[in-house]
Amino acid sequence: MPWALLKYGFSRRYPARVDIPPPQALRPSYDVVIIGGGGHGLAAAYYLAREHGIRKVAVLERGYVGGGNTGRNTTVIRSNYISPEAVRFYKKGVEMYQGLAGELGYNLLYSRRGQLTLAHTEASLRTFRLRAEVNRHLGVRSRMVDLEEIRDLVPCLNLSRRVRWPVLGGLWHADGGLARHDAVPWGYARRAVELGVEVHQRTEVTGILRSGNRVTGVSTSRGELSCGHVLQAVSGMSSVVAAMAGLRLPIRSFPLQAMVTQPVKPFLNPLVSSASLHAYVSQTARGELVIGGGSDPYSLYSTRSTLELKESLIAGVLGLFPFLHELRLVRQWAGITDMTPDYSPIMGHTPLEGYWLDAGWGTWGFKAIPVAGQSIAQAIATGRVPELIRPFALDRFYSFNLSNEAGATAASH
Ligand SMILES: Cc1cc2nc3c(=O)[nH]c(=O)nc-3n(C[C@H](O)[C@H](O)[C@H](O)COP(=O)(O)OP(=O)(O)OC[C@H]3O[C@@H](n4cnc5c(N)ncnc54)[C@H](O)[C@@H]3O)c2cc1C
Repeated sequence: MPWALLKYGFSRRYPARVDIPPPQALRPSYDVVIIGGGGHGLAAAYYLAREHGIRKVAVLERGYVGGGNTGRNTTVIRSNYISPEAVRFYKKGVEMYQGLAGELGYNLLYSRRGQLTLAHTEASLRTFRLRAEVNRHLGVRSRMVDLEEIRDLVPCLNLSRRVRWPVLGGLWHADGGLARHDAVPWGYARRAVELGVEVHQRTEVTGILRSGNRVTGVSTSRGELSCGHVLQAVSGMSSVVAAMAGLRLPIRSFPLQAMVTQPVKPFLNPLVSSASLHAYVSQTARGELVIGGGSDPYSLYSTRSTLELKESLIAGVLGLFPFLHELRLVRQWAGITDMTPDYSPIMGHTPLEGYWLDAGWGTWGFKAIPVAGQSIAQAIATGRVPELIRPFALDRFYSFNLSNEAGATAASH
């Protein structure tokens, strides 16, 4: 490796490696077409090729790889959910992240930090106790912590009693972590392309072709093509794209904003979140503070940032760390998040044969990229939906089998 580096350093040219080759012509037909070149679509493409030998796969992305929510999120990776089905699913996701950089040969800057969720009310303490029990029962490292332990975990946290929402206790999740958001789709795209998958950027799907009750292909901004299966993985555009297939989804779309400060010396190792203050914060390897909160309160397809959200996030974070009051904000941004009524995703079959969904990822889908990609690839390749994702089928909304994660999702992502 040092020799290669030396050779590269002394060479006259510095040829940049092209990870994702520029668009080639679309073929007339594919085994599987994936709509959406975010983390979920690319992970599914990679696992189809790698684990099932299905390589005649096209990922169609209307913009650029990772330009959707995967490149906009705050990268919280955790598994301390509340329903057993969600805990099992996200636990596998966290485990997969731990070995993912090695598998993809791509530095994802994954770092395990632990996550501290703060309780400011008796009701939160009760819910946290339940979460800790469910988590521990399923092998997830999660437990209640008192103020003394919180002081050890985050020494500079404001634990004064003379504030509007004093901290009463917390839920400590040792497996919580972070990764570099856009490295994840880049890593999957590079490996998928090496395995023969085609990734077509700037290719928008404009219609779904069907014959009777079976999908037969898609129309795109670059022409029509036929295929055996279509996987829809378009995050904030789920309802819009599903409508092209004649499907109505139980989803409403809301903007979700986040922001980042100038870098400061490292002082915060764990991720800290508070549902009562509607804010969470983590410090990146570069020293910036990444700050997020809940979705905007109205349904909208817009990625503008608002002053109201900025003010409320800042108020929340300063409640926890008052000494940050002179820090400068560098950027604020938003993505569109698709929220289901039970705050759980939708994965699997649809009433249209051959048309698969990987949707409803709301504010929590980054951590699920590897496990969702692998599971949905297995479902498409074998025709059998894996046990792990069966609870998240679309038909749960018709059979009243919801998987309620509202409490465990609020301002923790
Ligand atoms: C501010 C913010 C913070 C978040 N924080 C977290 C967090 O901390 N932890 C966590 O787990 N999750 C978080 N999330 C959620 C997470 O980012 C998403 O759930 C996840 O990235 C979804 O990935 P995806 O691949 O499904 O979607 P995306 O990355 O959005 O990819 C979908 C792609 O589909 C493309 N597309 C749409 N329509 C078409 C079409 N017609 N034709 C072709 N392509 C199309 C889009 O251009 C897009 O690139 C956050 C989200 C936001 C916005």
